Amino acid sequence: MSTEINNIEIQKATTSKISNVDFDNLSFGKVFSDHMLLGVYKEGKWQAPKVVPYEPITLDPSAKIFHYGQSIFEGLKAYKDANGDTFLFRPLDNWKRLNISAKRLSIPELPEEHFIEGLKALLQVDDEWIPKKDGSSLYIRPFIFASGNGFHASPADEYTFIIATAPSGAYFSGQLKVLIEQTYSRSANGGVGFAKAGGNYAGQFYPTQLAVEKGYQQVIWTDDTTHEYIEEAGAMNIFIRINDTLITGPTSDRILDGITRKSILEIAKSENIPFEVRKISVTEVVEASKNGSLKEMFGAGTAAVISPISAFGYKDTDYDLPKIANSYGERLKKRITDIQTNKSDDSFGWRYKI
Ligand SMILES: *Cc1c(COP(=O)(O)O)cnc(C)c1O
Repeated sequence: MSTEINNIEIQKATTSKISNVDFDNLSFGKVFSDHMLLGVYKEGKWQAPKVVPYEPITLDPSAKIFHYGQSIFEGLKAYKDANGDTFLFRPLDNWKRLNISAKRLSIPELPEEHFIEGLKALLQVDDEWIPKKDGSSLYIRPFIFASGNGFHASPADEYTFIIATAPSGAYFSGQLKVLIEQTYSRSANGGVGFAKAGGNYAGQFYPTQLAVEKGYQQVIWTDDTTHEYIEEAGAMNIFIRINDTLITGPTSDRILDGITRKSILEIAKSENIPFEVRKISVTEVVEASKNGSLKEMFGAGTAAVISPISAFGYKDTDYDLPKIANSYGERLKKRITDIQTNKSDDSFGWRYKI
């Protein structure tokens, strides 16, 4: 039996898993809601997506995703306010970026209404899955992969678009100790670093594992040519505060255009926090640490919003960040989460009510 919401067909799950979920003790991205949005590209066009039960899917062993890695994703969250209303944060930017990634990976671009109307229908069907507890949210993972068959090394003729969701608790990474990478690279000029391509993560796991074995939690990626310029913190954009100025690198082929990053820059501008978007060298950061002008470093991304860095390692020396009052990181995190959860007004127009 099926129904419809905003022209999106709904096939309901026969039973719900929700009574098995402990909403007071949610981890991140480990339990999945009852439904998912499923769309298919075939015969040269994206077919209308449907809301269907969340369940395993079947693929042919020759599906090109397995061989050639044509796979992209997005990440965003849905929040409940005190009245039980649901909000997203800048979801059109996720849709636009999905298509920027799609283009680079030769994946057909997805129409806006498939993403937005499909997501809205999914959230209405799984409304009960959106956590109400402060700090918790529904993590939303849209992704597209090559489900078409054949060993020929060329773009597939069929693709699958899925949005799966996972109720998640406050993402707390702790105080991060990071290693400034001097050997491996996450991305290169002309490459796919600006895209949310699955393979970018696969390439990060091994160098990150080496850093973990040395006692760090994350790698700070540097430019692939000289390893002298700081680019990203793991899978987050990076901000550095020297004295009172907040600095982040310019987006490029190699640096992902994070929605959290650009929101931070807009808030900094509106609150007269001095900021610069420019290349930051490792030498400058080490010098600033030595002379006491380095005040903060933090990663910025949807999952944690802001992850403070407590120390960084560079060429066998560790440098500690000071503990400071009035941290920009804490202030910006509160500003963003208050907007996301409808606790403050939203002069930027970022909130999107479902
Ligand atoms: C997703 C991602 C980010 C953060 O982007 P947001 O839109 O803020 O979540 C930063 N860097 C990389 C490499 C990413 O994949």
